[in-house]
Amino acid sequence: TAESVSATSPPPPPPPPHFVIVPLPAQGHTIPMVDLARLLAERGARASLVVTPLNAARLRGVADLAAGAKLPFEIVEVPFPPAADTGLPPGVENIDQITDYGHFFPFFNALPELAAPLEAYLRALPARPSCIISDWSNSWTAGVASRVGVPRLFFHGPSCFYSLCDLNAAAHGLQQQGDNDRYVVPGMPVRVEVTKDTQPGFLNSPGWEENRDAAMEAMRTADGAVVNTFLDLEDEFIACYEAALGKPVWTLGPFCLYNRDADAMASRGNKPDVAQSVVTTWLDAMDTDSVIYVNFGSLARKVPKYLFEVGHGLEDSGKPFIWVVKESEVATPEVQEWLSALETRTAGRGLVVRGWAPQLAILSHRAVGGFVTHCGWNSMLESIAHGVPVVTWPHFSDQFLNERLAVDVLGVGVPVGVTTPVLVFGDEAMAVSRGDVARAVSKLMDGGEEAGERRRKAKEYGEKARRAMEKGGSSYESLTQLIHSFTLQGGKKL
Ligand code: UDP
Repeated sequence: TAESVSATSPPPPPPPPHFVIVPLPAQGHTIPMVDLARLLAERGARASLVVTPLNAARLRGVADLAAGAKLPFEIVEVPFPPAADTGLPPGVENIDQITDYGHFFPFFNALPELAAPLEAYLRALPARPSCIISDWSNSWTAGVASRVGVPRLFFHGPSCFYSLCDLNAAAHGLQQQGDNDRYVVPGMPVRVEVTKDTQPGFLNSPGWEENRDAAMEAMRTADGAVVNTFLDLEDEFIACYEAALGKPVWTLGPFCLYNRDADAMASRGNKPDVAQSVVTTWLDAMDTDSVIYVNFGSLARKVPKYLFEVGHGLEDSGKPFIWVVKESEVATPEVQEWLSALETRTAGRGLVVRGWAPQLAILSHRAVGGFVTHCGWNSMLESIAHGVPVVTWPHFSDQFLNERLAVDVLGVGVPVGVTTPVLVFGDEAMAVSRGDVARAVSKLMDGGEEAGERRRKAKEYGEKARRAMEKGGSSYESLTQLIHSFTLQGGKKL
């Protein structure tokens, strides 16, 4: 009878968990969360990525690939509030579109308007999702999660080294003190000295107190954290961060290694402004580990004065290079002319990319032997994951501490020598000269013992990163546990 069958047959397996992922609309925050969503989907969980229309359009390539692979991955569009309500120019839905400092604040303050459509989406689902994973800055998701009754993890972009520094400095109120020009971050397993200029802290400019307090509170009330890092890179900092936070920290990275083939790499972030094949063909002709790659991320913009120093520094270094400049940096005829002249002088050994470059395809090429980076955590980790040592040139926010990790702790970086941050759109105060650039690049790329040791360490971390993401590796197994935990245990770590 039906009764005797049900008494003897095992209960059906629980359905796979459903993760709803809410990134901050900035490429350095969205890209890793897209990779995370695809990783979850590849491992059998359902992943829904909540973005506004402009950001959804940028992800069309990702969505097509996921659909082709029949991954349980979907993009959920929620409207961005109208310009009339936000005070932003029409069409601005991503931080990389902001060209006026006065627009950052209205942008962040427009985001809580996404709470109502997010809540409506969650309530309309046939079953309550298992978990929301939202960017650390998206504090407005905390109320949505608690009203709908869904657990919430926060995703914080930087390393655990950085986040631990931030937590410890905040716990001692150090970021608020006006008289401490320089201090040692308390509670760190290694000595970390910062200045007022280089200290940790997101959203901590004057006037942003409410936003930062809300983010810190949302962090306190979250059920755990997801971090794009791996155990063999910073195990002590991960352990201390988890202890300080007092909740599970899931280290699942490097997420970028999800992108194993050319199509996945090309679909990531914005549409590249140069064909991936052009870059790889150029690199194919170069010796192994001979090329220095230069890119300052999705936001930092250099005024011509800086740009010239970078270009001359690369030229003077005598090394082959790929240099990515933003369209907005070469907007005037004078700068364009200067750049064309530089390209002529360095023809055959220099490739300048204007716009968005296929960064992963470049970093994963055997010819690339160094990266001049602004130390955004994604760029830094992408470099390390591919065994490429770095010249560190931090610009703002977490980047100065990422530099400390690369240089002092991991031993894979040469600092270009900056000690003060610059504004996102460049700053007239010249901090780095062509001599600094040439010197740091030569130091990183020369064949000496020190450079060799740095390269050896970078390759070792690259190897460990690859293993972390393979079956049996720490990040792979941590993801297994995360999925298992939200299938059976409501998000608790075993
Ligand atoms: N990126 C890219 N091509 C570019 C510029 C950036 O693919 O020309 C990607 C890069 O690989 C990384 C992200 O954009 O994944 C930038 O994030 P990061 O944390 O390094 O810096 P941010 O842009 O947040 O300053």
